[in-house]
Amino acid sequence: MADSSRIKHGNSGADSPGESPLSGRKKAQQSPGSRTKYQVGAPGHGFRKVTLTKPTFCHHCSDFIWGLVGFLCEVCNFMSHEKCLKHVKTVCSCMSPTLVRVPVAHCFGPAGHKKKFCCVCRKHLEGSHALRCEVCELHVHADCAPFSCSDCRLCHQDGNQDYDTYHHHWREGNMSSGARCEVCRRTCGSSEVLSGMRCEWCGITAHASCYVIVPPECSLGRLRNMILPPSCVRLCSRNFSKLHCFRISESSQTELDNSDDVDTPNPATTKENQSSSSPDSGKQTLKVFDGDDAVKRNQFRLVSIPRITKNEEVVEAALRAFYIPDEPQDYELQVYGQQALLSDDIINRNGAPDNKPDNKSVFRESIPEAWILRAKPRDSEVLKIYPGWLKLGVAYISISVSKGSTVDSVVQEVLTQLGKQNESPSRYSLVEVFMGSKQVQRQVLSGQEIMLDKLQEIRKASLRQMNQTRLYMMERRNSVVQVTLLVGGLPAQLSKEEYADLLQEHLAAKSHLVTITHVYTGQGAVVLEISCFSEAERIYMLAKDTAISGKPLYSLVIPEIMHKKLPRGCCPLLVFVNPKSGGLKGREILYSFRKLLNPHQVFELTSGGPLPGLHTFREVPHFRILVCGGDGTVGWVLGVLEEVRHKLACPEPAIGIIPLGTGNDLARVLRWGAGYSGEDPYNILLSVDEAEEVLMDRWTILLDAQEVLEDGKENGILEPPKIVQMSNYCGLGIDAELSLDFHHAREEEPGKFNSRFHNKGVYVKVGLQKLSHTRNLHKDLKLQVDKQEVELPNIEGLIFLNIPSWGSGADLWGSDSDSRFGKPRIDDGMLEVVGVTGVVHMGQVQSGLRSGIRIAQGNYIRITVMKPIPVQVDGEPWIQAPGQIIISAAGPKVRMLRKSKSKQKKQSGSLKETRTETPVPSNGGQ
Ligand SMILES: [Zn+2]
Ligand SMILES: [Zn+2]
Ligand SMILES: [Zn+2]
Ligand SMILES: [Zn+2]
Ligand SMILES: [Zn+2]
Ligand SMILES: [Zn+2]
Repeated sequence: MADSSRIKHGNSGADSPGESPLSGRKKAQQSPGSRTKYQVGAPGHGFRKVTLTKPTFCHHCSDFIWGLVGFLCEVCNFMSHEKCLKHVKTVCSCMSPTLVRVPVAHCFGPAGHKKKFCCVCRKHLEGSHALRCEVCELHVHADCAPFSCSDCRLCHQDGNQDYDTYHHHWREGNMSSGARCEVCRRTCGSSEVLSGMRCEWCGITAHASCYVIVPPECSLGRLRNMILPPSCVRLCSRNFSKLHCFRISESSQTELDNSDDVDTPNPATTKENQSSSSPDSGKQTLKVFDGDDAVKRNQFRLVSIPRITKNEEVVEAALRAFYIPDEPQDYELQVYGQQALLSDDIINRNGAPDNKPDNKSVFRESIPEAWILRAKPRDSEVLKIYPGWLKLGVAYISISVSKGSTVDSVVQEVLTQLGKQNESPSRYSLVEVFMGSKQVQRQVLSGQEIMLDKLQEIRKASLRQMNQTRLYMMERRNSVVQVTLLVGGLPAQLSKEEYADLLQEHLAAKSHLVTITHVYTGQGAVVLEISCFSEAERIYMLAKDTAISGKPLYSLVIPEIMHKKLPRGCCPLLVFVNPKSGGLKGREILYSFRKLLNPHQVFELTSGGPLPGLHTFREVPHFRILVCGGDGTVGWVLGVLEEVRHKLACPEPAIGIIPLGTGNDLARVLRWGAGYSGEDPYNILLSVDEAEEVLMDRWTILLDAQEVLEDGKENGILEPPKIVQMSNYCGLGIDAELSLDFHHAREEEPGKFNSRFHNKGVYVKVGLQKLSHTRNLHKDLKLQVDKQEVELPNIEGLIFLNIPSWGSGADLWGSDSDSRFGKPRIDDGMLEVVGVTGVVHMGQVQSGLRSGIRIAQGNYIRITVMKPIPVQVDGEPWIQAPGQIIISAAGPKVRMLRKSKSKQKKQSGSLKETRTETPVPSNGGQ
């Protein structure tokens, strides 16, 4: 397949790298100089022959470079074999804005601890302030971030544009060293350099030299049935940052962004800092700004050049430092100082500067001189105009503009070139799109604006910004604005009208723009449809700052899932992560799943709990849920699901678990393991895909505290009757008392309880303190099972089991067969009732030495409690006042996912990151 046609349809879409080698660089080569430059087919690079002093790998073919000669790009540090030079297709960092297909900003968070390479300067990130995108594999140095552009994954349709085919979204490097090339099947990853390409959606990998022959259409790969297809999600996100759209909690961001600046280079860490000038080095260092914006923010790059350097070469070095792929002839350096800007020839250092008796020499010795890189005014220019409708099949249209050209005349000219000269230009507008790494800014240009003046204005402000700016021609359309917000934290159990009044009162919601479409009265949440961006943004921000009766509100942007467009067989996975469970692992899992799936299907439970996810998926005809958290988290999701089930098109989604934190009895029973220990999240998703559905009983516990007079006195505070759901077990007496103490300890010092193992140690220690107590639980309560009074033996704790795992994996019921009772199952509609005689007995059960005392089996339990007593349900403890406790089956059984047995075996021992080593069947990419 011919390269050019392939690139046009490939990820790189817009420009064909083949057609854009810089004429400027070609000219620059001709300028006399000691360096040998090679400008073959490689787009944008400025290669220089270098002597290798340490083992080095080729970024093109990923192989080792034998010998002492390599070719290094002076702009982006791309290293190549001599033999590979003429095949290099990887575009230089200075040209990466030309490859953007649809501009989508990244959302940066702090980088993890794995060895990664910067996608801009290609150097490793170790020891530097580094960032990674929360939803794609982009890694950059903090100072390099402004030079990456908005080429993140397109995860939804934004308003009125429609993209009907999805292409691979290639990202270079940072993949596992065992990754295999889709084309030639040889290893293509590297842990030594930035090399190899990987699709951010389907995960196929290939050499930089091979990926160009992979057919461009992306099928989303092996996980496609669980990925929420980006073509089926719609979100008018204009005013909302990516963080807001993907509900990425800002707490993890605070250490990064204390301003909204796009630009973050810190002078102290600028990459060429180390080569600061010393009088004897024969080099000098210049401080260079790329425009007035950079001057205002005092953000400069240090450019190190030989002392005796021609003007043009200094300009060229400055352009390189700012990743600007233009001709040095079009730029000049102006000195930056109090006397404003001087003429360009001041930079000429052909003489020996140190001998010159000019008054600047002292200044030059002490601190670097400051210069501003400026574009020379132009009389004419060739512009690339990108049509805003991609189906046209044309990447861009080149238009020559001269001094008199206005925006209107450009629009007219584009229409003529497209053969649409009969259409009225007033139907179109020209939009300036700035494709910054952290945000995409769009600005409609006014028709009378002089084109060249506009460009010069952008260049004067920031040359970097100009390099990342594109002109789009868009059809003027009155698109219907519709933003959906979920506002929660409101008082529960109000009517729609009462909620409307509250919104009016606290958020001043404008009733002609805001409609309440859904009310979740049990959750104290409403869904708003807002027909105006600024109103939506205002309510969104204000709600985050508002509390009603002391309870803070929360607000979330809800994407629309176009469920009718979902492909057949698609069963997207709704992922809930409790980042508070299991220490840092929760956050890493969250990050992995946002990248492996569509971030729109991953929900952090700390913002609004399970409701926002369930609401978003309400119309999806078939979906599954994955809960990442402890047993309590699973119970939370099951509880909210129970509450809103009747509003879902898929009322009984099956639920899988990634156990985080301690306990995890339910996860153990369903074979998901005792706790997450770093398995490859990709393999976890495969297990979820292959898991079997099983049914599980759920139970309702009614706790009705009654006024009991003891010795003629009133006994404590009366609570209203309480109903809780139970899926694992509940306990009264010693078992609950231990978890209650533990619970209090954890609330006092939450930071101490991050490790699962630590948690367990504390559990035991708290237990030992209880040894001195004696109590007679059997005398303080009466038990009825299926309406039969049951005589209790001497016990301190009474436990009701739904699943055969209790207290972090213990088998309390025991495995012996017993003619009195049936074999316990999680779906038999029966609870097992077991007693323990005390802490020692509990310890023996947990070590597997003994089991509990079997008391009964039944499906309707009634307990009369005579004294205040510790109670725990699914590990959540409290003190219950005397009264009645009734346990009965809760509605229909729930569907759970149980990991398949073969999968369980295969997975054991695979702790290492194997994401890209997993062989992807080649037909999986079709
Ligand atoms: Zn380069
Ligand atoms: Zn090579
Ligand atoms: Zn970098
Ligand atoms: Zn990204
Ligand atoms: Zn792909
Ligand atoms: Zn290959």
